[in-house]
Amino acid sequence: MSAASPSAAQPSRAVSELNLILLGPPGAGKGTQADRLRDDFNLPYIATGDMLREQVKQGTELGNSAKEYMDRGDLVPDEVIIGMILDCVNGGNCADGFLLDGFPRSVGQAEALDDALGKLDRKLTAVLLIEVPDEDIVKRISGRRLCTEDPNHIYHVDAHPPKKDGVCDIDDAQLVQRDDDKPELVQNRLDVYHSQTSPLIPFYDERGLLRRFDGTRSPTEVHDHIRATVATLRLEDQL
Ligand SMILES: [Zn+2]
Repeated sequence: MSAASPSAAQPSRAVSELNLILLGPPGAGKGTQADRLRDDFNLPYIATGDMLREQVKQGTELGNSAKEYMDRGDLVPDEVIIGMILDCVNGGNCADGFLLDGFPRSVGQAEALDDALGKLDRKLTAVLLIEVPDEDIVKRISGRRLCTEDPNHIYHVDAHPPKKDGVCDIDDAQLVQRDDDKPELVQNRLDVYHSQTSPLIPFYDERGLLRRFDGTRSPTEVHDHIRATVATLRLEDQL
């Protein structure tokens, strides 16, 4: 801190950090919201699943370590994932904050992440929870149909049906439902979310970090609400 008092023309200090976690069930629209928030606030998006695949592909030290577990069919230990997150956070582009998705998925992982961030003298600013009831998630995911020619041609039986049942509008190829999108499997993923991940909701709520968003609204409405909340967080932090 310099002795001179900050003038109005000058920020009182460097831009405050926005260290954010995105939380919510599979199919809640976290990826869509992350894309938009990344643009709004210029925050690096750390999607731990993608990060893991990327580091394994590049053969980094942590990637190789993770691969050993994956090749044996074991879960990658929390320390390895946290190591990757810390590498990102320590990297220059996370100086103003980050948007973390896919980790933590349990209270144990949340505690480990808190400790690790604390050693870097950083802490979470907020946890953004996108809430969607199970029955809506099952409808959303199990209604998806993908083109067998080009998986970028995506339809939804209710929200975005093809002109002709089961046929792609663009190339007339057949549309299929991915196995992962079948209702039983979606419900399995939701059950795992409820048993392992949803205890994070009271955990972060007790710490005053939780912000809730109604994920049944349109992506634009959800985004407007999140953006306003995050902008307020940054403002509060600067006061
Ligand atoms: Zn197609």
